[in-house]
Amino acid sequence: MGLKIWLDGTLVDEADAKISVFDHGLLYGDGVFEGIRVYHQRIFEEEAHIDRLYESAHAIRLTIPMDKAQLIEAMRETVAANEVGNGYIRLVISRGVGTLGLNPFVCHHPMVIIIASKIQLYPEELYEKGMKIISASTVRNHPQALPPQIKSLNYLNNILAKIEALDSNVMEAIMYNHEGYVAEATGDNVFVVRRGVINTPPVSAGSLEGITRNVVIKLAREEGLSVEEKNLTRFDLYTSEEFFLTGTAAEVIGIVDIDGRIIGDGQPGPITKLLRKKFFEYAQGN
Ligand code: PMP
Repeated sequence: MGLKIWLDGTLVDEADAKISVFDHGLLYGDGVFEGIRVYHQRIFEEEAHIDRLYESAHAIRLTIPMDKAQLIEAMRETVAANEVGNGYIRLVISRGVGTLGLNPFVCHHPMVIIIASKIQLYPEELYEKGMKIISASTVRNHPQALPPQIKSLNYLNNILAKIEALDSNVMEAIMYNHEGYVAEATGDNVFVVRRGVINTPPVSAGSLEGITRNVVIKLAREEGLSVEEKNLTRFDLYTSEEFFLTGTAAEVIGIVDIDGRIIGDGQPGPITKLLRKKFFEYAQGN
């Protein structure tokens, strides 16, 4: 038996969860989404994810056909129906069925899709030993073209960078913005430790405002560590003492090699390990 999928107001069997070929989510990547973790039956940072989803939708003039409370209820129902204790939720709002033209205003019925399932994690060994990554040559979307703060259904910019990573036999790539400053990884935010201070690019450098990022900044400050948002160059990454990525799926993962430059002593550093542990405790509800 497959999953129960929330589709347009009801739970349906996975095999029946189908959408039209005229949906503008498919035709144009016109829509928004969220990826959310479930830890011990609890939806992680539920409110922050829902707020970000509604902001993304607002920015592209897409009206989600449910209020926040209704959407949260639908999400909880989907989690319960699939007995997801520890897993992942994908919330998708597509523009809905329209014509073959671009006009979004002929799409009168946005589609709400909720998938609650297991999550494919990086192997544990990667967290212990740290990850090797590369710099992508694909420049992150210019914020005045398609603001990376919008978590849209159009991920081609990130996918092109991901292809560069996979071609180099690594899992992630750093994307730089139009000015050459670090923006983010293809699906994660970037942190480095330099001279004892934790640095992360400001969201204005061209990244999604990661929910994991914000939690990690809060947890680091609670530990008395200083965190500064600052534009970072490729040199700053190469010469960092520690380097880690944050994201819903990856949580906190240490980077030990970028473009062949070894970071620190080639293993995830003490601050990275501490924050990974604190994040884990926070997520488990301790
Ligand atoms: N940047 C991008 C492009 C992402 O898709 C994501 C989400 N996977 C992140 C950063 C991390 O954000 P979050 O911590 O909210 O998952």
